[in-house]
Amino acid sequence: MERETLEFDVLFVGAGPANLSGAIHLARLVKEHNEAVAKGERTGKSLGDVEIAVIEKGATVGAHILSGAVMDPKGLRELIPDFVEQGAPLESPVKEDHFLYLTEKHAIPSPITPPPLKNHGYYIVSLNRLTAWLGEKCEAAGVNVFPEFPGAEMLYDENDRVIGVRTGDKGINKEGKQKANYEPGVDLRAKVTVLGEGPRGSLSKEMVRRLNLDEGREPQAYSVGVKELWELPDDRYPAGRVTHTLGYPSDTHTYGGGWIYGMQNRILNLGYVTGLDYRDPLLDPHAEFQRFKQHPFLQRLLDGGKMIRYGAKTIVAGGYFAMPKLYADGVLLVGDCAGFLNSQRLKGIHAAIKSGMLAAEAIYQALLTEDFSANQLRRYEELVNQSWIIPELRKVRNFHAAFQQSRWPALVNAGLQFLTGGRAWGLFDRSKAEPGYEAMKKLSDFGYHGNDIAQRYGDLRFDGKTTFNKVTDVYHASVGHDEDQPAHLHVLDPQICATRCTEEYGNPCERFCPAAVYEMVENGGGRSLQINFSNCVHCKTCDIMDPYQIINWVTPEGGGGPDYKGM
Ligand SMILES: Cc1cc2nc3c(=O)[nH]c(=O)nc-3n(C[C@H](O)[C@H](O)[C@H](O)COP(=O)(O)OP(=O)(O)OC[C@H]3O[C@@H](n4cnc5c(N)ncnc54)[C@H](O)[C@@H]3O)c2cc1C
Repeated sequence: MERETLEFDVLFVGAGPANLSGAIHLARLVKEHNEAVAKGERTGKSLGDVEIAVIEKGATVGAHILSGAVMDPKGLRELIPDFVEQGAPLESPVKEDHFLYLTEKHAIPSPITPPPLKNHGYYIVSLNRLTAWLGEKCEAAGVNVFPEFPGAEMLYDENDRVIGVRTGDKGINKEGKQKANYEPGVDLRAKVTVLGEGPRGSLSKEMVRRLNLDEGREPQAYSVGVKELWELPDDRYPAGRVTHTLGYPSDTHTYGGGWIYGMQNRILNLGYVTGLDYRDPLLDPHAEFQRFKQHPFLQRLLDGGKMIRYGAKTIVAGGYFAMPKLYADGVLLVGDCAGFLNSQRLKGIHAAIKSGMLAAEAIYQALLTEDFSANQLRRYEELVNQSWIIPELRKVRNFHAAFQQSRWPALVNAGLQFLTGGRAWGLFDRSKAEPGYEAMKKLSDFGYHGNDIAQRYGDLRFDGKTTFNKVTDVYHASVGHDEDQPAHLHVLDPQICATRCTEEYGNPCERFCPAAVYEMVENGGGRSLQINFSNCVHCKTCDIMDPYQIINWVTPEGGGGPDYKGM
C-alpha cells in the first residue's frame, strides 16, 4: 500500500501547552506580518499561507494531559493577555497556601510557607481542560489540529536533517499482521518540526541520542506523580486552598512530596511525587501514594468522600544542567521535552507556554529568511537564554540533584540557594551525575532477603474506600487501547526478566509501573513477563526506571491511552 505524504511548513508534535502555544503564536505572527506587508507598514514580502499542523497521540486534545496543577500565569498572560475575560477554564485563584511536614502520625504546619511554594496570584487549573481550550484557540487561528495521530518515527534526510515525522500505522494485529482496516502511517513533512512530547518523549529520546543533543549535559532526571480526584461530601476543603507536604511516607533518601489542591464543586485534587532516582528496589510510587492517603490528616480529609479519577505521569526534574541542545537542522525542542521545569516549584506550564512562543518567534524569522538550518534555528536557543526561563532555572540548578545525598542536606541546600543564587558547594559532584535507574540498588545490596514485597509494604491494605490497588485505580483513568495490536512496550531482552532481574532486583517493573502493566506470571513451571499494555497510562516510568534499560516505550495506535477529563 502506498504511504501518503502531506507537506506542511511547520509541524508541532504533541498537543501540550508548549506546542499549542507555539502554534497559536506562530499563526498570529504570520497573520500580523502579512497584514502589515499588505498595508505597506512593513517591507519585505508576504509569507502567504503558512501551513501549520499539530499532531497528538491522544483521542482528543488534552486526553493525555495530566498535571497538578497550580499555574503561574505569566506564560499564559504573554500568550493571551486577557485569558480570564476570554474564558480560560480556571478552577480558582489560589487563596491559601499551606505547607505541612508529615511524620507517621502527625501533620506539622510550617509557620511560614517556603517562598518557592507561595502561590499568591496563581491559579489552580485542570490542565486537561486548559489544554483543550488552547486547542480550540489553535483551530480558530487556522492551525490544523490532528488528534489520534501519534508521531511514530522521525524522518531525516541523508544529512541527518529532520524533515518531518511518520505517524503510526493503524490496523496491525497483535501478531504484527495487517487487519482489514489497515492504514499505513502518513509521512508528515515540514520545513521545521517542533517536538513538544512532554517528559521522555519517544521521538525526542531517539533524536537526542542520534544527533548527540545531550553531549556534555547531565543525564535527565525524572519524578513520577500519581494522582486522584476525589468528590468530597461538604466544603471542608475550599476551592483555592493549596497544601504541599514533605516527609511521610518517603524515606529520607527518596525525593518525594504530596499536594492537595481544592477545585470547584467540592473536588479535591491530590497526589504524590516520587523521584525516579530512588535506591530501594521494592519501592512502588503508587503504593507510596496509597500510604500518603493513610496518614491521619488525609484520612480525616477524605472521610466520606469518593475517588472519581486516577492518573500518573512523569515529570522532568533535571533542570538547567540536564537541558539538551534545543535545536538542530529542521527541528526544535520545547516544554518538558527540553527540560524547562522548575522542580523546586513543581511548575512547568508557564515555561512550556513561553518556550512554545519563543520557538514560534524563531520559526517566524526562519520563514522570513527561508533558512531552516541549525544555524538559523539557533536563534531559538538565544531567545530562551535571553528570556526569564533560564534565570529561573539557574536559581534552582542544584535543587533536585542535592536530594541524591538525602533529605536534610538537600533542604539546607534549598534554603541556601536563596542566598547563593543557586550555588551548592561540594553538595553534588557533577562528574558523577548518573541516570536515575542507576541509583536503584540490587535487593541484596539494599539489605533485603529474597524479593518479598512485604518487606516494604507489609502493612499496606487496599480497603477500596481510601486506598485502591492499581487495577481499580487504572479503571478510573478511563484507559482504552485496541487489544488486538502489538504491545507498545518493547522489552528488548525478555530473557533477563525471569532470570537476572528476578534475582537482582525482584522485577521492579511490577512496582514502578503505576498502572499494573507488568506482571510476572507462572508459565508451565517457569515464570515469564506478561505485558498488560492496554492498562498503560503513557506515564513513561518504565522507559526511565528499568534498571537494564531494556524497556522501550513507543506510541501505540492513535487514540489509545488514558482519558484525563478534568485532571
Ligand atoms: C503530576 C504532575 C504535577 C504537575 N504539577 C504542576 C503544577 O502544579 N504546576 C505547573 O506549572 N506544572 C506542573 N506540572 C508540569 C506540567 O504539567 C508540565 O510542565 C507541562 O504540562 C509541560 O507541557 P508540554 O507541552 O511540554 O508537555 P505535555 O503537557 O506533557 O504535553 C505533551 C503532549 O504531547 C503528546 N505526545 C507525546 N508524544 C507524542 C507523539 N510521539 N506523537 C503525538 N503526540 C505526542 C502527549 O500525549 C501530550 O498530549 C506537573 C506535572 C505532573 C506530571
